[in-house]
Amino acid sequence: MSKAPIISVQNLVKNYGEFQAVKGISFEVQDGEIFGLLGPNGAGKSTTLEIIETLREKTSGTVLVNGLDLDKSPEAIKKIIGVQLQTAGFYPNLNLTELIHLFVGLYQTDIDPIALLEKVNLVDKAKAKFKELSGGQKQRFSIATTLINKPKIIFLDEPTTGLDPQARRNLWDLIKEIRDNGTTVIITTHYMDEAEILCDRVAIIDSGKIIAINTPNELIDELVATGFEKVKEVKKANLEDVFIARTGRALRED
Ligand code: ADP
Repeated sequence: MSKAPIISVQNLVKNYGEFQAVKGISFEVQDGEIFGLLGPNGAGKSTTLEIIETLREKTSGTVLVNGLDLDKSPEAIKKIIGVQLQTAGFYPNLNLTELIHLFVGLYQTDIDPIALLEKVNLVDKAKAKFKELSGGQKQRFSIATTLINKPKIIFLDEPTTGLDPQARRNLWDLIKEIRDNGTTVIITTHYMDEAEILCDRVAIIDSGKIIAINTPNELIDELVATGFEKVKEVKKANLEDVFIARTGRALRED
């Protein structure tokens, strides 16, 4: 991982009328990392991400994306980021190949649909319609759409919510692979086990403020250093391990 931040946010504020949803937060995302934005509902995660994605106006503060100033170069920023599209945009009567052709046209890039489907392990669904996919396959396709413009950074909003354990693990592998191929990944999740395994660093945001930012490991060590101990004795496995061990690792949906 290189040292240069690919995203730099300074004193970001967002007011909705009288209400301050984001209260002057500052953080950096390093080039080539999986960065998790964690926090309870209403903490300000979506607001923060949508400002960086150029989809929402900020009240004040500075945002730099790959050295580009959000105030001066929003169009240039749009070109180097990948955002998950609303599934409502996945026209019901088009198959996956046709949908990718459509998006490629919108983005004016030259990506081969089959090569893209290969990346997310969906080649055998190339002629299937979006509505015919399983939950995990829908998420993989949605992630594929973020890669269409060959972005430097992708934003994934709760990509594994509602998936079964095999499909979640399969998606973690895909997200790590995208990171390993050089794309920075920003992800939101409510699953702390997922954040611990997947994220290189996380920021915890609460009531519009960042209350912690570090690697998962160091955050845990910091808590342990305060004398914190789990009430229950930790077993060597958990119920998810039982589920995976009994049902196997293979994806069922394919
Ligand atoms: P999160 O993504 O962490 O759940 P949000 O960024 O969606 O949080 O919301 C942060 C706060 O801002 C919440 O209290 C929410 O109700 C409020 N909020 C979000 N969008 C709007 C809006 N368009 N108008 C007014 N308040 C909003």
